Amino acid sequence: MKVAFIGLGTMGAPMARRLQEDGYEVAGWDVTESGRQRFTPCAVSLMEAVSGVDVVITMLPNGSDVASVYKDQVLSRLDGEAVLIDCSTIDVETTRMLSKLTESAGFQMLDAPVSGGAEAAATGSLSFMVGGREGTLSKARPLLETMGSNIMYFGGAGSGQAAKACHNMICGITALGVCEAFALADALGLDSGKFFNLCRGAAAQSWILENRCPVPGPVPEAPSSNNYAPGFAARLMAKDLGLAQQAAKASGQETPFGAEASRRFFEFADGNKGDLDFSAIYETIRSC
Ligand code: NAD
Repeated sequence: MKVAFIGLGTMGAPMARRLQEDGYEVAGWDVTESGRQRFTPCAVSLMEAVSGVDVVITMLPNGSDVASVYKDQVLSRLDGEAVLIDCSTIDVETTRMLSKLTESAGFQMLDAPVSGGAEAAATGSLSFMVGGREGTLSKARPLLETMGSNIMYFGGAGSGQAAKACHNMICGITALGVCEAFALADALGLDSGKFFNLCRGAAAQSWILENRCPVPGPVPEAPSSNNYAPGFAARLMAKDLGLAQQAAKASGQETPFGAEASRRFFEFADGNKGDLDFSAIYETIRSC
């Protein structure tokens, strides 16, 4: 099976390598030279990457990037029964629009955003949240199972992105709660390592606490112990919380904690800290 993998960043490059290791013939493409250096073989153009492939996977920053790749080049170059899988985190409306466009061009599309970060991308243990036709998922399942260990189907086009928006809203709100508690613990003179050990074994335990403990020291491999190198960049957390707010408005559901988390992360990422891991927001909370 021939696969074009578009977007070879933090996530895309290790995901493309997993497919290659499992025997798929993969042609990579990234708009930047630095991206293209992360994966071999890369095509000389997007057009070349997608010609004659069975599957096109996109792992791009935003909905506008995915839309321009689909509209400008990809849909007009495919043939046969090609399947398009968008693993980027983008908004529900753009996904539904692209799904319609893809089907009217004679192809099938899945939205399949992921959770798990670069570590899980490298080990093939991502979680996929999938929307689209069930029959399309049956075709794509072996490929998704190469990159992930948890494939969750949510329903029609856009429902994978809807699940991702809700999931990441939990992560953003939890991250602020963890930061605030560690700031208070520090202000009260508690040892952060002891406090971490208490929380990880008690009711305050969470993935965010265990993997993105915001205080340097307790978790040596966490971004906080490595100058907040991502991980998951704060600008992407802000983007995802913004997508959740967009979905909340469209559905009429109030999400006040999600709105506050979105405001905080946008404020943080709009400065010069957007490329740091999201747990770096701890520094601003501690000094408030
Ligand atoms: P990234 O910025 O590291 O990589 C994106 C890549 O896409 C870059 O190499 C960029 O040059 C390339 N690109 C941009 N526009 C392009 C175009 N038109 N054609 C070809 N290449 C193009 O981002 P990432 O961290 O890999 O995240 C990718 C997506 O996955 C985002 O939507 C993000 O929200 C989501 N995501 C990221 C993580 C994470 O931990 N980093 C986790 C889950 C989901």
